Amino acid sequence: MLNLVLFGAPGSGKGTQSAKLIDEYGLYHISTGELLREHIARGTELGKIADKYISQGQLIPDELMISILDEVLDNEAKDKPGVVFDGFPRTIPQANALKELLSRRGTGLHAVIGLEVPEEELVERMLKRGKDTGRADDTLDTIRKRLQVYHNQTQPLAEYYKEEGNYLPINGSGVVDEIFAEIAKGIERTTGHKRRK
Ligand code: AMP
Repeated sequence: MLNLVLFGAPGSGKGTQSAKLIDEYGLYHISTGELLREHIARGTELGKIADKYISQGQLIPDELMISILDEVLDNEAKDKPGVVFDGFPRTIPQANALKELLSRRGTGLHAVIGLEVPEEELVERMLKRGKDTGRADDTLDTIRKRLQVYHNQTQPLAEYYKEEGNYLPINGSGVVDEIFAEIAKGIERTTGHKRRK
């Protein structure tokens, strides 16, 4: 098993690097943001609730987010050689829940990859993504709120995982493939898993 958390501010490249991780290690990708956006697009009950929070740049309540994740682990992610958690956990209660959900399944987290990118670059990247993809929460006002939420609620998790001893800081500025090479090196060093290519 190889269970990884891709950790970082909004716009730090979690989605881009996740795609490479699943490709090179054969892992199952859980992006809580994507999952919620799919529900919004399909107009489900969950989508309606999620939209209220996402459009304000706020986090979906922990209990709801944790129960969604529990379900994904029981269904789509079951029997996979491991999971990339992208955008989860985002709060200390979510991190505690993740530990519990994995240990209940006889496994745990092997590494937390922290993508570190300066704030001005994050804003630039998200504004560009908003233009290119039309993503509704990539507007300057909502970006500012999301960054504030990140600093208040999510960033403390870096300390949490440093204390656990599995935090792997990565410079997330620069060329995608070079950043990935650093991630792969860190994974090999800490878990012994090698990339496929
Ligand atoms: P992302 O695509 O990861 O940037 O997530 C987009 C939005 O979805 C966030 O701004 C939150 O409103 C919501 N979201 C995604 N993941 C979580 C989570 N783990 N906990 C709470 N809200 C989340």
